Amino acid sequence: MAKKISCTSCGGEMTLHYAFSKSAVCPYCGLSTYITPNGAILQESDKAILVDYGSPFILGASGKLSRKVKNETKKENFLIIGRLRFEYEDGFWDEWMLLINDQPDQVYWLEETEGRLSLMISQPIPAATAPSFEKTKVGTVLTYQKKKIFVRAKSWAKIVGAEGESAFELSVGAKADFIDGICAGAEVAFEYLNDEITFNIGESIEVDSFVFNSM
Ligand SMILES: [Zn+2]
Repeated sequence: MAKKISCTSCGGEMTLHYAFSKSAVCPYCGLSTYITPNGAILQESDKAILVDYGSPFILGASGKLSRKVKNETKKENFLIIGRLRFEYEDGFWDEWMLLINDQPDQVYWLEETEGRLSLMISQPIPAATAPSFEKTKVGTVLTYQKKKIFVRAKSWAKIVGAEGESAFELSVGAKADFIDGICAGAEVAFEYLNDEITFNIGESIEVDSFVFNSM
């Protein structure tokens, strides 16, 4: 069930679709509100401004997504509920937060880098079970949940903008570390942001897999 909250700065109404969203950017005043078990609190940080550059995606868009699940092509409903923009050495990429088939307890990220798309299913994981970012070496194999992961790269990026709701306690300027790897042919990534760690399993996907409803 989507829930409504009021912006702690201007009182504007925002809708949260993901059950575990931890922050939301107000579409009216651009300030972020943190959602805590004790209610909404204002996040004192910079405005999460995004400059558009002609992405086919837009916050609030919905439609049908065709993708292969266990060798069968499935058509599922999608809804775009948030976006984070990361800046790194060579430029930036966006991560769109998606719900699929209105499942409020599972979030997907659609990573868009220079037109290339990858759809990732994302899980928060306890720090105790995550590989150490510092100790993990590129070119080695690590074991996570009995899976062997070949470590392709380690990198970091900064959050420079956001809109909609977020699974993270968003703060503009926050730095995230990444371990990128390959696990049984799939792209995987550990993402370390503040004290939150997520494990992502991805698949590359084409833009024409998305058919949009008119808005
Ligand atoms: Zn506001």
